[in-house]
Amino acid sequence: MGLTVLSGPSGVGKGTVVAAVRAHHPEVWVSVSTTTRAPRPGETDGVEYHFVDAEEFARMVKAGEFVEHAMFAGHAYGTPRRPLAERLAAGISCLLEIELLGARQVRSAMPDARFVFLAPPTFDELVRRLTTRGTEAPEIIARRLDRARIELAAETEFDHVIVNDDVQAAAARLVALMID
Ligand code: 5GP
Repeated sequence: MGLTVLSGPSGVGKGTVVAAVRAHHPEVWVSVSTTTRAPRPGETDGVEYHFVDAEEFARMVKAGEFVEHAMFAGHAYGTPRRPLAERLAAGISCLLEIELLGARQVRSAMPDARFVFLAPPTFDELVRRLTTRGTEAPEIIARRLDRARIELAAETEFDHVIVNDDVQAAAARLVALMID
């Protein structure tokens, strides 16, 4: 019940694990973040993200419309406040998939939330996943790898660690933690 925050380095498979939770656990509500990055092929506005320009994002920050927000590899990402507050008030289990700086902001604002870190089986596996995704330019991959090193070092800040060696098993463990 309540709020669960899933974090972990880019490329670890957070999106895939969250997609598995969505597919098998409709009782879990997954927040849709707002971002200034461009959609990847196959991404739809309002499904994976709300895609906005930097000006609109800045307006939303100023208006207090985000629970947390952070920059990641040159783009802004934030969790819309209202939809989350409504689900939590209705007693629905909520899941945020966000990077480390945002997770720390949620930790300060909502210390009762559950904080889960998704870890790669090995660092080499993370590098392999980031470089073979094929959607990012080399300089973006390099920025994401730099950030991944920082995020991996913060694993101990989290309440639980799930190693993503199998997507379905990781999703099942995450849901088990959420309903615990
Ligand atoms: P991507 O561009 O690969 O979809 O996401 C880049 C990073 O931003 C990932 O680590 C993802 O978890 C994180 N992210 C996605 N949405 C949010 C958000 O609303 N807030 C924060 N702080 N990070 C987010």
